[in-house]
Amino acid sequence: MNSDSWLRIAVVGGGPAGCSAAIALARSGIDVCVFEKGDHFREKPCGDALTSLTVELIGETFGLGESDLSRVGGVRFRGAVLRQPSGSLPVDSPALVGWSVRRSQLDQALRDCVSRFAEIKYRTQVVRLTPGNRFITASTAQGADSRFDAVILAGGAGDRFTRNLGIDGEPRLGFAVRRYVREDYADSHLVVEPTPKLLGYAWEFPNGHGTRNVGLCALAPVERSVLVSFVKPFAASTKSREAIGGGSGPCWRGSFVKRHLPVGVVSCGDAAGLVDPFTGEGISAAIRSGLLSADCVLRFVKDGRNEARLAEYSNRIHSIFSDAYRPSQARISFLTLCGLRGAESRFGAYLAEKDDSAE
Ligand SMILES: Cc1cc2nc3c(=O)[nH]c(=O)nc-3n(C[C@H](O)[C@H](O)[C@H](O)COP(=O)(O)OP(=O)(O)OC[C@H]3O[C@@H](n4cnc5c(N)ncnc54)[C@H](O)[C@@H]3O)c2cc1C
Repeated sequence: MNSDSWLRIAVVGGGPAGCSAAIALARSGIDVCVFEKGDHFREKPCGDALTSLTVELIGETFGLGESDLSRVGGVRFRGAVLRQPSGSLPVDSPALVGWSVRRSQLDQALRDCVSRFAEIKYRTQVVRLTPGNRFITASTAQGADSRFDAVILAGGAGDRFTRNLGIDGEPRLGFAVRRYVREDYADSHLVVEPTPKLLGYAWEFPNGHGTRNVGLCALAPVERSVLVSFVKPFAASTKSREAIGGGSGPCWRGSFVKRHLPVGVVSCGDAAGLVDPFTGEGISAAIRSGLLSADCVLRFVKDGRNEARLAEYSNRIHSIFSDAYRPSQARISFLTLCGLRGAESRFGAYLAEKDDSAE
């Protein structure tokens, strides 16, 4: 038994962020408990697109390769096409070569990897966190209380803890919906169509076995009436037995925000507002931040609960994602096509600003 095995860390949420944090901690010999309110093969509304970076991170973190993605029903895509009124344009970017894997399958494959090293409590929702002098008590809806040395919050876009504790990254909320449509569909490209009135885009992604994943996303807050005016025709035009799923996407806002509490709590993934503000892609950020949170929390508990180790986490997140989400010319052009002009185009410039409030 490892000498650190007395240390116990809770991870709230078994999505890509929570699984990444859990597997990294467990591999360091820490006793980890993942609380997941859903069941096995829980559906997560998503476009299901894994960019080349995401595929690489999944390989490095979980040891899952392309044959594993194929085994769980994934299909490879070979680039993207930008559909516009003037015609369709192929988008030549190595980042847009990747895999499409239904999230119920992908997330379960990640959790199955974690469960070889750590405990996962399914159908168990954490409803309260009570910090003490030395431990944090996590209480579940099922009535159980357990004590932990630290807690990693990875509950996704709907995470209330991070919002209430002020460690959610103060995201700009985007919005997205998707539906699976079963029909002959052999295109192996991502198809993206800017929808300026929605301040976003529509997509059609291959999903394997003659199915496509179709969806809509707003990259900036829009009026409810605008959303309804898009979602209603979307529902009518995508005839499918499958339900429409989706919700808010907590996009990176760029300013320095703490993502830790000195008592030993950090946020990661969507719960920390890390979705790419230019595309709505969030799985790679979830994995990267999950890994980072594990590293910093581990150093926090080993260094006598030294808050500086957690402050390092907030700083590292700020620096890594300020860089990752730096507005390139291509990204700004895409935002412009999506209708984010005027006040919204200043957003790109805002993201580019050096934020000197970082500690
Ligand atoms: C419609 C849509 C399309 C998208 N398309 C893409 C895409 O194509 N590619 C891409 O990279 N990103 C996409 N995203 C973003 C992506 O889905 C998220 O960024 C990603 O899932 C974040 O992972 P996460 O682990 O932080 O959160 P999640 O995947 O949401 O996982 C959080 C987990 O925590 C659990 N949980 C929550 N609260 C509790 C609690 N209190 N107790 C216990 N368990 C709890 C939930 O059940 C869930 O399993 C899309 C988002 C939407 C809404």
